[in-house]
Amino acid sequence: MKVLLAGSSGMIGQAVRIAMAAGGHDVRVLLRGGSDGPLTWDPGAGRIPPDAVEWADAIISLGGASLTKLPWMKAYKQAILSSRVASTRVIAAAISHAASPPAVWVSASAVGVYGNRPGEELNEDSPRGSGFLSDVVTAWGRLGYPRRALRLREDALAIVRDHDGLVPDTLDALRALPGVGDYTASAVAAFAFGRRTVVIDTNVRRVLARVIGGEALPPPSLVASERRRAEALLPADAATAVTWNVAAMELGALVCVSRGPRCDACPVRDACAWVAAGSPADPLPRRGQTWHGTDRQCRGTLLAALRDVAETGEPVAEDDLVAAWPRDRTQAERCLAGLLADGLAHAVAGGFTL
Ligand code: SF4
Repeated sequence: MKVLLAGSSGMIGQAVRIAMAAGGHDVRVLLRGGSDGPLTWDPGAGRIPPDAVEWADAIISLGGASLTKLPWMKAYKQAILSSRVASTRVIAAAISHAASPPAVWVSASAVGVYGNRPGEELNEDSPRGSGFLSDVVTAWGRLGYPRRALRLREDALAIVRDHDGLVPDTLDALRALPGVGDYTASAVAAFAFGRRTVVIDTNVRRVLARVIGGEALPPPSLVASERRRAEALLPADAATAVTWNVAAMELGALVCVSRGPRCDACPVRDACAWVAAGSPADPLPRRGQTWHGTDRQCRGTLLAALRDVAETGEPVAEDDLVAAWPRDRTQAERCLAGLLADGLAHAVAGGFTL
């Protein structure tokens, strides 16, 4: 697995780096820095190298200003907060815009949500405490992908319940896990278990559209003919098929990129139908990915409104909740229904809670 590791200089980060390298993983370290570079990032400026995010199968972010450095003056408290929140926000944005996003994202850092409560027995059901560190956790916890976290938990339960705690190794069993679609199931089957199955991500679709189809870009969403084309090309031998999947993905991620493909350095240039056709322009108008106004932003806004009153234990009335998204009541109601269906919000007497 290709792992992009941020926060590798700390005690946990160093141990993770050593352990993952010893396990045969390809680990690249993301360093904080003001200058632009292939593996430097600046969360405060919202900068992270997109190629590194595209490259990674997993991002592990363990960064955050140390809690043991004293005293905590106002500027240093801001550093504790922003080093966690800003880094998570910039990774989330990079992942949401990645053509081939990493399948795994771990974001962890030392903080304390419970506050200083000596003599009190605390567990995950205990309410958060008061004070600066609890506020940091609350701000930090509003980032990321709550639905994916929910699915991961459901997957873990299903794997323990239905598969004796072992990740299943067949496509059908993987697809049956909560939230696991064709891409994730085939990637796990191929790369974790060496199965002969085609793994089609955005990069593979783009490479095959150009090399075989002679088109600048594939259709906006995956169609059956693309799958058939990829399956027809897949080598018969399982081990070679796995290598083929990796090669096609890497070619798309590093050489046959969406804008400005590096055809002069491409190993399959002589076989590329798109280049042979004179590199015709894409005839379709394409909309870029946006965040503002999307259902994802709306869901996040509704969740934030629920979190704001979670401490009180009081429900939020429906009118008050949808008013948090004033631009489109229909969209707010649809997203609220989605949150309820996903188990991220709950209907109770008088309104809704987390
Ligand atoms: S020659 Fe250019 S367009 Fe064709 S596969 Fe290679 S990088 Fe992509």
